Amino acid sequence: MTVKKASVNKSMCDGSPVCPAKRVCPQKAITQKSSGGFLSKLFGGGTAEVNRLLCTGCGKCVQYCPHHAISMGK
Ligand code: SF4
Repeated sequence: MTVKKASVNKSMCDGSPVCPAKRVCPQKAITQKSSGGFLSKLFGGGTAEVNRLLCTGCGKCVQYCPHHAISMGK
């Protein structure tokens, strides 16, 4: 059986510095890549990314992303 992994639709992610999906992940599999801009440096945040090696496919992040930017796939 193949475990489904989370993936981020980057065009839907707003890069919030208080990303609830990142906070709720029990594996700490979600990180955010800074855009390098002034606001990103000041407040943190950036486009979310899922480390597929850490993701166990629990699906919590899908429920917590307010922009529905995360889905489960292969
Ligand atoms: S599916 Fe679960 S383990 Fe994977 S990134 Fe989302 S919250 Fe983390």
